[in-house]
Amino acid sequence: DGRLRREGELQTSGYVRVRGAREHNLKNVSVDIPRDALVVFTGVSGSGKSSLAFGTLYAEAQRRYLESVSPYARRLFHQMPVPEVDDIDGLPPAVALQQQRGTPTARSSVGSVSTLSNSLRMLYSRAGDYPPGQGILYAESFSPNTAEGACPECSGLGRVYQATEQSMVPDDSLTIRERAVAAWPPAWHGQNLRDILVTMGYDVDTPWRDLPKKDRDWILFTDETPTVPVYAGLTPDETKQALKRKDTPSYQGTFSSARRYVLQTFATTESASMKKRVARYMVSTECPLCRGKRLRQEALAITFAGLDITEVSRMPLERLADLLQPYVKDGAGTGADARSRAAAHPEQAIVTQRIAADLCARLTVLLDLGLGYLALERSTPTLSPGELQRLRLATQVRSSLFGVVYVLDEPSAGLHPADTEALLDALARLKAAGNSLFVVEHALDVIRKADWIVDVGPQAGEGGGKVLYSGVPEGLRDVEASHTRRYLFDDLQDAAHAPARAAREPTGWLRLAGITRNNLHDLEVAFPLGVMSAVTGVSGSGKSTLVSQVLVDLVGAALGQAAPEEEVEEGAELEREDIVPTLGRIVHDARDGAQDGMRGVRRMVRVDQKPIGRTPRSNLATYTGLFDQVRKLFAATPQAKKRRYDAGRFSFNVAKGRCEHCAGEGFVMVELLFLPSVYAPCPTCEGARYNADTLAVTFKDKNIAEVLGMTVDDAHAFFLEEEAVARPLQVLREVGLGYLRLGQSATELSGGEAQRIKLATELQRAGRGGTLYVLDEPTTGLHPVDADRLMAQLNRLVDAGNTVIMVEHTMRVVAGCDWVIDIGPGAGEAGGTVVAAGAPHEVAKAAASRTAPYLKASLS
Ligand code: ADP
Ligand code: ADP
Ligand code: ZN
Ligand code: ZN
Repeated sequence: DGRLRREGELQTSGYVRVRGAREHNLKNVSVDIPRDALVVFTGVSGSGKSSLAFGTLYAEAQRRYLESVSPYARRLFHQMPVPEVDDIDGLPPAVALQQQRGTPTARSSVGSVSTLSNSLRMLYSRAGDYPPGQGILYAESFSPNTAEGACPECSGLGRVYQATEQSMVPDDSLTIRERAVAAWPPAWHGQNLRDILVTMGYDVDTPWRDLPKKDRDWILFTDETPTVPVYAGLTPDETKQALKRKDTPSYQGTFSSARRYVLQTFATTESASMKKRVARYMVSTECPLCRGKRLRQEALAITFAGLDITEVSRMPLERLADLLQPYVKDGAGTGADARSRAAAHPEQAIVTQRIAADLCARLTVLLDLGLGYLALERSTPTLSPGELQRLRLATQVRSSLFGVVYVLDEPSAGLHPADTEALLDALARLKAAGNSLFVVEHALDVIRKADWIVDVGPQAGEGGGKVLYSGVPEGLRDVEASHTRRYLFDDLQDAAHAPARAAREPTGWLRLAGITRNNLHDLEVAFPLGVMSAVTGVSGSGKSTLVSQVLVDLVGAALGQAAPEEEVEEGAELEREDIVPTLGRIVHDARDGAQDGMRGVRRMVRVDQKPIGRTPRSNLATYTGLFDQVRKLFAATPQAKKRRYDAGRFSFNVAKGRCEHCAGEGFVMVELLFLPSVYAPCPTCEGARYNADTLAVTFKDKNIAEVLGMTVDDAHAFFLEEEAVARPLQVLREVGLGYLRLGQSATELSGGEAQRIKLATELQRAGRGGTLYVLDEPTTGLHPVDADRLMAQLNRLVDAGNTVIMVEHTMRVVAGCDWVIDIGPGAGEAGGTVVAAGAPHEVAKAAASRTAPYLKASLS
């Protein structure tokens, strides 16, 4: 039923009382929040919901907990800063399930995060079928991450890496001086190796392919490491002379072959980017011994239901549950063989029954949360943040903790409305077990199920940070300042339904055929150009595979636009490299007289929620390019001209103008023994980032540091006459980011904020048309109000002659698109086909589509 919780319906054992919270933008907030309830924190993006739920409540719970553990153990936690708050009482211990982009280690997998792999190994160890004569193996022997289990040939990686002449010397027409040996370390170190070869008399100025094989082999593969005198900067002839004269060398250099360097760096470096760099010079093939299964032969010889443990780890959890189900009753499974065997080994049957029952119970929760298409072996870096959070949530549901507060960040992210019901069930189970749930959420279906709402706002940033309402949902109806209420109560505004707009006609079609990747098999899809399309479907149906992988790969290749260098997540990268490449093609022949193929697409842009930069050196003003204009204005002032300061002087990344003490960062790192390092404002510039001389120059009475401290709104008013600065600022205001400060560092921005900054930057460039914009769940992290603003901007792009294709779950947004492609019908192998494609009102009628009923409800 759609009824909201009313006064007098709440049961609680008491309240968490917050007094004087001032974290980030919170305005000295005092609020009482019930325990043992599903509490949803709402408000526009940037209003301060996370600052209250995570930055204050969770951070304080963690701080109290950590006070009780040893300093050594404390270091193992990702510690939150101590929150700015006067007092909190009634606060139980807290567990945070946050959306993390990038995950601990590449070797963590669905099986390890859920701990299901541990139980499965126990099952194989204790209840597996052993070949005659083989002794029993411990559970660890079934893990590729232990010495007992790992295949000795590939150390448990499943692949073997080799450095070959071809992989290390990609272009053999180059000479050594021209860096034929691409695998050599970069910069100085590489030159050093070349100079050593010069001393040793090797020819570094002949194309690689014309060198004798003996020399090539020695240079690439030798295990010798001779140390010789090096004369830096001398030509080969001069070097010969110098050696003859026994001149004092620049230094003694030690040679090491390219293979040695590559393999050693790969095996030992701690830096993910180094590892990625050298991996490029290796070829990997499936391990011939374990055939990619990563385990010792002894372990692979043990079977359960006729399968080795790797085979089981690779099947979708759904199938695994089916496989184990027959054993839950009496541990015997099905079939006459199995029955007689169980009769002969009753103890084994008991063990099998126990472990199978436990595994099945835990699998059920995962299946309920819509994760049945995942396999245990799937590595966590390949999961979306939403999938990972639900995986961790499912693990908690079975953990039988009670009296805990779970703090969750948009658990509905990545969930089709059909899957949201199951999510609500999982939350209800945690609550029924005696826990409290504090959830930051934008999805109206979740907010409607809340026992209690804390609405934060009214606006974002400085304009927000107040608690507008804290109470049972029905009471929010009367809070006029709240943006949330307009979406929650249908009768208050028609906002829950997409505004009617005449559907646009496609200007052409981009047809893809023969698509094979993940769960898509020889699929054919047509994307309309010049309109806005949404790709929908239950989670795991193949939307991201189709849009973020296949479409982006194929169009990128056709445009000669290499896939943008992905930011390196620590350790994550290598696992991704092994993913199978896309099979498929763009269909170029014209049909229906329309312009087909790539003719309507001149450029492709992905607008995602990845951070815009990882260092405080990148910020809103630098990323959007508007800071260049601001610096020019400062350089043009009479003061600056008199002192001969150019625009570079006003960059905190350039030595002449910045504060030298902190190198322009504005803060310095303070190392604390046993605790994570903390940042403190720079004592010299007090956080201004510039030196005193630079700060003496003013534009309209403000110095450059004061300008960086302005919000976008203030700066827009301040620079109103300066078109080149005011225009980008205006676009930022239009995407709802007027509250951000110009100097706000990239590291302090949320994913939703980063996404809108990228979009604003794009909007300034738009106008030419012919650009394909690809977005994956653009409304994640956005309040409905912000989602509406985003749609307005995207519509502007389409009206200017561009194409927008997005993966999306919010039906209000889907209903506002011109075209919908519904993928499914189910997840994993039960999905991967186009169930329906057409205008929203047509797809809403498709009988086989699980999206249809929800879409229908959103169409007015
Ligand atoms: P919400 O969760 O409602 O989207 P947040 O609590 O994340 O909002 O942010 C509230 C305000 O605090 C925003 O203006 C945001 O830019 C700012 N903010 C968030 N994180 C930080 C941080 N680490 N340092 C400084 N400001 C921050
Ligand atoms: P959606 O975006 O609709 O949620 P995905 O495209 O992410 O679905 O997934 C479709 C199927 O492909 C699922 O069975 C999923 O497990 C699988 N899959 C997705 N990404 C990978 C990957 N990197 N490696 C292996 N399987 C993957
Ligand atoms: Zn192996
Ligand atoms: Zn400084």
